Amino acid sequence: MYGNQPLPENLQLDKLSFLFSGKLLLRKEIPLQDDYFQQLLEAKLFIPVKSIIKKNFSHLCMRCGNQKSSLFAPIPCYQCKKTHLYCRKCIEMGRILECEPLFEWNGPKAPWIQHETPSTWEGELTVAQQKAATRMVQAIMNQEDELLTWAV
Ligand SMILES: [Zn+2]
Ligand SMILES: [Zn+2]
Repeated sequence: MYGNQPLPENLQLDKLSFLFSGKLLLRKEIPLQDDYFQQLLEAKLFIPVKSIIKKNFSHLCMRCGNQKSSLFAPIPCYQCKKTHLYCRKCIEMGRILECEPLFEWNGPKAPWIQHETPSTWEGELTVAQQKAATRMVQAIMNQEDELLTWAV
């Protein structure tokens, strides 16, 4: 069903789909053991996605939908020993490096995702969902700022 690899045993698909449906996550944002995660990758339940895509005259951040070249900045990367871009717009969610993939959940979708989004093209969907998620995070953070202000 999800490729030729046998699925790992005691795989809690419903729990995983609830956690990861509709999200694009960095590896460090996925709280799973390496060997377990590797099994999910091999079973194609997680699909690696390029985090920053080159467009004709600009770039696109797949996590926050940023396309402004002023919001991309070069950084010397110690992982791949090159200087390449990262996205400044969604930096508060953890830095997105051009060389680091995001992982998209490819297993069964959580019921709430199915309700929310009938028959839209999935690529667009993911970006749109991600934008919504980013805004939600921002809203939460803004509120925290407000609370802090009140506390002071
Ligand atoms: Zn971004
Ligand atoms: Zn790199």
